[in-house]
Amino acid sequence: MPGQINYLRMSITDRCNLRCFYCTPWGGWEKLPCQEILRYEELLRLAGVAAKAGIKKIRVTGGEPLVRRDALGFIRSLGQVPGIEEVCLTTNGVNLAELAPELYATGLRHLNLSLDSLNRDRYREFTGFDHFGDVMAGIERAAVLGFGPIKINCVVLKDLNDDELVDFALLTREHPFQVRFIEFMPTVDEARWRRHFLPMAEIRRRLAGLGPLETVTTAATAGPARTFRIPGFRGELGFISSVSDHHCPTCNRLRLTAAGRLRPCLFAASELDLKGPLRRGASDEALAELFREAIRLKGCVSPAPSLASQPSSPSMVSIGG
Ligand code: SAM
Repeated sequence: MPGQINYLRMSITDRCNLRCFYCTPWGGWEKLPCQEILRYEELLRLAGVAAKAGIKKIRVTGGEPLVRRDALGFIRSLGQVPGIEEVCLTTNGVNLAELAPELYATGLRHLNLSLDSLNRDRYREFTGFDHFGDVMAGIERAAVLGFGPIKINCVVLKDLNDDELVDFALLTREHPFQVRFIEFMPTVDEARWRRHFLPMAEIRRRLAGLGPLETVTTAATAGPARTFRIPGFRGELGFISSVSDHHCPTCNRLRLTAAGRLRPCLFAASELDLKGPLRRGASDEALAELFREAIRLKGCVSPAPSLASQPSSPSMVSIGG
């Protein structure tokens, strides 16, 4: 059984300004009509209700959250919801250099940035856009402003970016970043997943030459990453083995999709509709009960999960990554 469920990933949009081939392929997902996306006041009410059900930490995600109008105003308000102790943001960083000062002023400090290559041409191939320079400028600006921790999420893709593992890890020698290696999950295209999946054991083996990995203890609201530090390095390394070492017993999170559906687990076949009851005038208590129901529905999914085999749209851009 899972432990305490205190972390909600809240998707505020299914739109994105990148087209990462494994997440938001061109024409590969049906976007929600605007009226189907939860409004900010609805999201804020749900955040308050979630806090009553035990949620302490909310990560704002998407799609790309920073493409939604007034995302920063929303983030500021989220930080003021009673009971929510930590607000974090996951972004692809494309607009970060420009928005970082205003984002810092909202009070948010915890930033996760997605970056799968340190090579500009490759970055363009993976994402469909030439924004590598913008993302690097965003990371630099965020670091100068004092955001922290800054976590850099790299989805490892066999034969596509696995020759960059050491370069990514070496970023933590000089910078206080946490570089997190994420196993590629079978979402939009299972055949491609089979070709490019690299298990975490192999990822770690390839980093062994850098030195011993010292375990770093993480907070109770921390996500699924196993965190380490190489002696003498300023930053940390995180390993997220969502496929090879599925982490149900330690998973502490729920996901709210932009369409207002609560997902007990990334791999869950079912979701609870919150938008319907919310728009029909449900009380806070009735909504809190839906959060509790989602928490009860959390449990171990085995054998190894496959999002691709699910009937509903499985891409991370739709679910909220
Ligand atoms: N746009 C934001 C971003 O880029 O961080 C937030 C949403 S994105 C869907 C969140 C994360 O999901 C990204 O780090 C992305 O790499 C990851 N992701 C998407 N599809 C994935 C897959 N098939 N396997 C592993 N990670 C995936």
